[in-house]
Amino acid sequence: MNDIHVDVLIIGAGPSGCVAASHLHNQGKKIKVVEKNTFPRFVIGESLLPRCMDHFEEVGLLDVLKDFGFEKKYGARFLSGDIVCNFDFSKKHTKGWDWTWQVTRADFDNVLATELIRRGVDLSFGQEVVDVVFDDDGTSVTSIKDDNGALYKVHAKHIIDSSGYGRVLPRLLGLDKASNIPEHSSIFAHVKDVKRPEGVEGTLITFDVLDTDTWFWVIPFSNGDTSIGFVGKTEFIESFKGDTSERLKAMLKHSSYYYERFKGLDFKFPPICIKNYSKSVKQLYGKGYALTGNSAEFLDPVFSSGVTFATESALMASKLITKELNGEVVDWEEEYTGYIMKGVNVFASYVKEWYTGNLQTLFFHRPENPEIKRQICAVLAGYVWDETNPFVKKHDKLVKNLAYLIKMEVQQKANS
Ligand code: FAD
Repeated sequence: MNDIHVDVLIIGAGPSGCVAASHLHNQGKKIKVVEKNTFPRFVIGESLLPRCMDHFEEVGLLDVLKDFGFEKKYGARFLSGDIVCNFDFSKKHTKGWDWTWQVTRADFDNVLATELIRRGVDLSFGQEVVDVVFDDDGTSVTSIKDDNGALYKVHAKHIIDSSGYGRVLPRLLGLDKASNIPEHSSIFAHVKDVKRPEGVEGTLITFDVLDTDTWFWVIPFSNGDTSIGFVGKTEFIESFKGDTSERLKAMLKHSSYYYERFKGLDFKFPPICIKNYSKSVKQLYGKGYALTGNSAEFLDPVFSSGVTFATESALMASKLITKELNGEVVDWEEEYTGYIMKGVNVFASYVKEWYTGNLQTLFFHRPENPEIKRQICAVLAGYVWDETNPFVKKHDKLVKNLAYLIKMEVQQKANS
């Protein structure tokens, strides 16, 4: 194959790559998207946040997603024994979307990629990036292996690396950095949810909190299947013996709320185990490239923030690249790293405070404080750049301080 010349090469056609591609295509830039797999393909990341609806809407991909009929998600339920903490996205501090979806990602990502191809985007499956060489001016030559094993080259002015766990540029450029999120692992599968209860209960996304480190997700889909998965310390996940099916079946016994619904059901594929899933990088951009989505940073699934960061970072990176291609100067440190890390840091505080137990103290303390709940709800909806929300602005202190006050109050009551 002859060499190809483009403005922007996008690696990966997950939500991050597709949002970036849609924006750049709408701006009239010459792009190429290369995807290693053929779609539809399975990937985890099925519970979305309202904030990502803004991104799909802005790049013109929302209508095609609406047409598919994914299960609507209006909030999230957290359980701790008999205590229920329900977040309703229509009752949140920040204005914005009050619903989103629970999606089978094979379908979701396929809808996005198919729509881009329909619009004329050069997106090809079965194409794996194997090497990238950058010139001093940031232009690059990428070697790609096609589905017949033949190599060809793409010359690009910019690269957006949206390769998810493929982590193409972090690997090739040595950008990986240990995450400072406490290490956890996960094991998950889909089931045909034949004992699904009627009404809202059957379709409600739920996080059943088993202890400070261990929780179980239930994400029902509109096709009658449900995603189930455990998250816990790596030692806990590894303490179960046997193959992944046997291990997930044994773990199910730990969820007294859901055991009856899911016991004895066959998994639709052998359960998948991902160990120590949190990822980080030394830098989010360099001359001629930007990292977006999971290729840049992944914290933890507990607040379903992965796809939203994937689309937020993709949209921002593609806007900044458009500016540069149009001859404007971009301050990548401030406009990209500064902006993205603001949101990442808010979620990182919540993830850390989840696993210290402080956030769980707030969620399950009774009576609830409706104003605090509205503010936390906006964070859980993904609106983590809104500094009018005290739970965004003081993310590093407020959860900790409030949990301390609650614990003191409980202690005083116990002593009196
Ligand atoms: P991906 O969706 O992974 O897409 C990357 C694409 O790049 C893939 O299609 C891949 O084939 C392609 N690729 C890789 N290498 C190459 C290569 N060399 N050449 C070409 N193409 C390549 N997020 C949520 O929002 N909600 C959740 O409920 C949620 N649950 C999760 C549960 C667990 C246990 C884990 C570990 C993660 C979860 N996530 C969740 C995170 C979510 O999986 C990711 O954040 C999200 O998929 C990131 O999207 P992306 O577009 O960056 O990457």
